Amino acid sequence: MPLVSMRQLLDEAAKGGYGVGAFNVNDMEQIQAIMMAAKETKSPVIVQASRGARQFAEDLYLFKLIQAAAELNPEIPIAMHQDHGNSFETCKSAIELGYTSVMMDGSLKSDGKTPSTFEENVEVTRKVVDFAHERGVTVEGEIGVLGGVEDGHGAGGSGLDHITDPDQAVEFAERTGVDALAIAIGTSHGAYKFTKKPDGSVLKMDVLIAIHKRLPKTHLVMHGSSSVPKDLQDVVNQYGGKLKETWGVPVEEIQLGIRNGVRKINVDTDNRLAITGAIRKVLWETPEKFDPRDYLKPAREAMKKVVAARMVEFGQAGHAGDYAPISIEQIAKGYKDGSLSTRPLVASK
Ligand SMILES: [Zn+2]
Repeated sequence: MPLVSMRQLLDEAAKGGYGVGAFNVNDMEQIQAIMMAAKETKSPVIVQASRGARQFAEDLYLFKLIQAAAELNPEIPIAMHQDHGNSFETCKSAIELGYTSVMMDGSLKSDGKTPSTFEENVEVTRKVVDFAHERGVTVEGEIGVLGGVEDGHGAGGSGLDHITDPDQAVEFAERTGVDALAIAIGTSHGAYKFTKKPDGSVLKMDVLIAIHKRLPKTHLVMHGSSSVPKDLQDVVNQYGGKLKETWGVPVEEIQLGIRNGVRKINVDTDNRLAITGAIRKVLWETPEKFDPRDYLKPAREAMKKVVAARMVEFGQAGHAGDYAPISIEQIAKGYKDGSLSTRPLVASK
């Protein structure tokens, strides 16, 4: 199957009432792990690359690997997404490479650190939407600012510093025409999200629900949504790692989000932990080994297990065969003639 539009994937998820995991990749083993999980659970999937990943792997290596994944798994709808684009140029280069979706994170200035103004965010996001939609490519925007830093991107600080204001979310969605909207509800990037099991004081599911009530048809995106389960932390620490105790976003909170308009859930840290734990275990238990395949294979398997579990928990499992892919050219036409809406439905307060 050719790479599909993320918009189609999320529209279908909304119809089916489920969420779709967006998993970050940097290399072949991670892409293979995701595809193994998608195949096993029959799931449509979003594969995403940050700017850091594109730099690490080199654009062409990474993109050709995704194309290979699509070719080898014709029964799986795959959207290829730029995670946290910091500028129009970053998004443009991803689109020109063949990505079927981009995130323009205009919540930060192009340095990827300093929070921008609302007007700056609207302006740059609108520009990306115009360029992307003409080419049938999906756009995710962000309103509010997430906590933490990952791959050198982020404002740092706690996730509570810039919680999304529902009125601003409505105005942002109306003025930009984004297909998906990332909101800040207290989550952070990286492993250290919460210092205790999160409750309503640090994880603002009430804000998410309020935004969904105002924008009932807008696909919401949860970032920083690894669950950071204790068993994955324990494996790392058992074999010489030194992770400090930490909590992520519990799966049941994500499922509450999915019941309230969340269609895309970003997961990276859990996979990093699974990979690192598996590699540490092999090197710790069998220090005489030196063939990278001896630890990369279990690492790939460990990541596959986490991804497959999330696919089941988010509800995307079993939905790979629900629909035929619409070509990107057809999607572009849809944006142009208005059959694919870019104006959100807004409900009164
Ligand atoms: Zn993110």
